[in-house]
Amino acid sequence: MLKIKRVPTVVSNYQKDEVTVEAAGRVGGCGKNCLKSCCIQEAKLPLYAFKRVDKKDLPLLECKEQPVAFLDSIILGEWEDRMQRGLFRYDVTACETKVIPGEYGFIAQLNKGRHLKKRPTEFRVDKVLQPFDENKFNFTKVGQEEILLQFEASNDREVQFFPNAPIDVENSPSFVAINVSPIEYGHVLLIPRIFEHLPQRIDHDSLLLALHMAAEAGNPYFRLGYNSLGAFATINHLHFQAYYLAVPFPIEKAPIKKIAKLNGGVKISKLLNYPVKGLVFEGGDTLEDLSNTVSDACICLQQNNIPYNVLISDCGRQIFFLPQCYAEKQALGEVSAELLDTQVNPAVWEISGHMVLKRKKDFDEASEANAWRLLAEVSLSEERFQEVNALIFQAIAAGQLDVKSQCPEEVDAVSSSPHPSMVAGSQECLVLQ
Ligand SMILES: [Zn+2]
Repeated sequence: MLKIKRVPTVVSNYQKDEVTVEAAGRVGGCGKNCLKSCCIQEAKLPLYAFKRVDKKDLPLLECKEQPVAFLDSIILGEWEDRMQRGLFRYDVTACETKVIPGEYGFIAQLNKGRHLKKRPTEFRVDKVLQPFDENKFNFTKVGQEEILLQFEASNDREVQFFPNAPIDVENSPSFVAINVSPIEYGHVLLIPRIFEHLPQRIDHDSLLLALHMAAEAGNPYFRLGYNSLGAFATINHLHFQAYYLAVPFPIEKAPIKKIAKLNGGVKISKLLNYPVKGLVFEGGDTLEDLSNTVSDACICLQQNNIPYNVLISDCGRQIFFLPQCYAEKQALGEVSAELLDTQVNPAVWEISGHMVLKRKKDFDEASEANAWRLLAEVSLSEERFQEVNALIFQAIAAGQLDVKSQCPEEVDAVSSSPHPSMVAGSQECLVLQ
């Protein structure tokens, strides 16, 4: 119905119709060095096993720029290696970038290369949840040379790194791969449990994995992002994106107002003075507390068919949660021709203030007012935002009750809870003791 001729970005060389990739180091198998059973048995990939963080490890490590963090150096080393091998579709380091003068410092990038090969989007844009389709492009179709490393939790409480680890398909490995259409240095994809063929939808485990990656990178300039279907995800196979950008994102500079504090210490605020309305989740006694709260919110929007984007900042300790309606407006013919002509797809990076522009004209004329005008179209109205927040708060409250009811002594504590609980929906949500 609401199919839109959009221009998805090619994220893998194997997404193109004709595969002409010179697979490096091909040995045996089908000759393509692929991820299927023909080639995977013999394959070896670096394996990074992060240490689990739990309450005993508190406080979480401080997020500051470190000389060389371990995961950082591996990702960037592998990424540069793929650049040397010519696996990217263009040289992103040659793309013009500038900080737009103004209060927020929006960042404009001229990136013509990203959308040269046009293919219509392969799924509906009006459904946030769609089943995985074996026949469409998915990440199991990429070549091994596009995979940088396997990323998983360590069995013991230490970080472990194996430069040449076999791939245990049965054990559901998660991969970090290059995005062959990078928008910045070190642009990668995190693909949780790749062989389980999960559609693009957040669950508790996958978000926690993404937060672990942010925490493990330990670099404030490394952020992860997520686009739901209907919010400019271009592939219906579960993935997060991530890259380095050595300036603050405008969204990170926006003022916020606290509206709730939950059990487990997670604080929820709303963004103020920003063109896109959104929530900010921070803190929590553990990474898992924060992750669970945000994934409850994600799952809620998925179930209610509301497209959204997520930005993971501050080494996994600050999460921006942004419901959006641009594609819906587009389908209803409510977006101005002027904005449509720019062909900018407002996904998580654009919403966060990194505007990836395709036309020289838009780059030359980039201004805070123009960025603001585009992003204002992405945002829900105040009224709709309040409705959506009410749904989210309900879901989060239910999630908290779930957690409680797992503790035997607290099972009947729901109605007259002696524990802190949350008042949803109001402007000033308080922790009730
Ligand atoms: Zn093969």
